[in-house]
Amino acid sequence: MRTDTLIIGSGIAGCAAALAADRAGADVTLATKATQPEDAASYWAQGGIAISRGDPERFRDDILAAGAGACDPAAVDTLVTEADDAVRDVLVETLDVPFDGEDGFDYGREAAHDEPRILHVDAETGAAILPRFTAYLAEETTVDVREDTAALDLITHEGRVHGALLERDGDVTPCFAGATVLATGGIGAAYEHTTNPAGATGDGIAMAALAGADVADMEYVQFHPTAYAGGDETATEGAEHGTFLLSEALRGEGALLRNAEGERFMPEYHSDAELAPRDVVARAVRAERERTGDVRLDVSPFDFEAEFPGLAERCRERGVDLDAGIPVGPAEHFLCGGIDVDRDGRASLDRLFAAGECARTGVHGANRLASTSLLEGLVFGRRAGRAAAGYDPEAVEPPELRDSDPDLPAQFAAEKFRRLRRTMRDHVGIKRDPEGLSRAAARLRRLKGEVDSYVRTRTARELYELRNATVTSLLVVRAATENGESRGCHHIVDASEASAD
Ligand SMILES: Cc1cc2nc3c(=O)[nH]c(=O)nc-3n(C[C@H](O)[C@H](O)[C@H](O)COP(=O)(O)OP(=O)(O)OC[C@H]3O[C@@H](n4cnc5c(N)ncnc54)[C@H](O)[C@@H]3O)c2cc1C
Repeated sequence: MRTDTLIIGSGIAGCAAALAADRAGADVTLATKATQPEDAASYWAQGGIAISRGDPERFRDDILAAGAGACDPAAVDTLVTEADDAVRDVLVETLDVPFDGEDGFDYGREAAHDEPRILHVDAETGAAILPRFTAYLAEETTVDVREDTAALDLITHEGRVHGALLERDGDVTPCFAGATVLATGGIGAAYEHTTNPAGATGDGIAMAALAGADVADMEYVQFHPTAYAGGDETATEGAEHGTFLLSEALRGEGALLRNAEGERFMPEYHSDAELAPRDVVARAVRAERERTGDVRLDVSPFDFEAEFPGLAERCRERGVDLDAGIPVGPAEHFLCGGIDVDRDGRASLDRLFAAGECARTGVHGANRLASTSLLEGLVFGRRAGRAAAGYDPEAVEPPELRDSDPDLPAQFAAEKFRRLRRTMRDHVGIKRDPEGLSRAAARLRRLKGEVDSYVRTRTARELYELRNATVTSLLVVRAATENGESRGCHHIVDASEASAD
């Protein structure tokens, strides 16, 4: 199989890249392991998508402040100057997303934004964008969309990427591409508590790193402070598992955080109280849960049911007594780092591009500002798709994958995943300490050794996902170990202060 541009992943970044490459005249194949839009984090985005509203400087200042001095200012400039045009072109004029507002847009405000600038559709913005986007690609463009198709490994030859090995229904086929764009999303599946969908196993980052591409800022894993915490906290969470996000937009509307004693505690932690940067709020929620046993989001200051009907419904389904507040706790939410790319999404390997959460553009620095991730996927996905068009595919010898022993011991991947998640929870959460990190590194290296020996004779998708989550976790641990400075969402403490997340 041959294609000019191979896009891997069908979240907002992959869709934006596919659209741009198609518009640039390339023959585009989009391979995604998703079988429905819900399999991408983009679908679950709630608060919305921030734009500049004609004032890019002001937007830029908020992003730089949230990023705690670690952003790449040139990448931020690109994001804020292209934001309005990308949203108008793709989301409004091409996809006709019905953003809230009667005469003009109803802009929402979230933590650490100094003005309302977030376009949204109720608190279910991703669900209003992504199905439209995938349908548009399938119906209105020539993009060849292949669902339930997982990339297992990149095809490389002499430092150049020539496509990927794609697996569907157990069959593995090489797809030779002029250029390859990774848009595989985040790494939440490596954590016990995450807002991400189950397929967020860090595939693109691991495949790129294993092929020799540079990664950066991997220590900056963002924990969202207010994930629903009233369910079975030992379950693997995420969209399929009972937890869900209580968007920052709620705090933007006036929701308050209270501990088990009913006290509002955020003003003691930060002058912006509930609207402080995410890492500050996440650590405060963690501390108050440890100290008092519970933290609740008090939504009584506004009409929750009228303004957030979707979230109100999910609370009702779980029997939450809204008068008592919604039980919340931190959960892994977003990776600020990833495959190191330039402003056109170019990775350090020839003909390899990356966009969206799996890429490190430098926009988020050490901490992402709320509602800038959809925008990053859109703006840089568009740029990567454009830059990746125009290369002819070339067949080379693909790596040989053996499936000589296809039967996996029952539960193998599930058990190893549990071990991986426990390690990440215990040692690589909101607070890390050097001793815990070195214990995590040793455990993960052992795990990788076990997984590698299985991967040599099997092509099962879940095994590759486990390998990828393990490799990505090792990259997080290595970066966290090498960076002794607490900044943004990377928080280093003494062993006595560390706690499991
Ligand atoms: C609950 C929740 C709420 C959020 N709210 C907001 C918000 O309001 N605003 C905001 O800006 N951001 C928000 N975010 C963050 C934002 O949604 C994500 O960071 C962003 O959507 C990531 O987009 P993406 O295209 O990079 O990845 P995703 O949307 O996760 O898509 C990744 C795609 O890659 C596919 N894939 C993965 N591995 C492979 C493989 N090996 N082979 C083939 N396909 C593969 C997946 O199936 C999926 O289709 C939220 C995230 C969550 C989880």
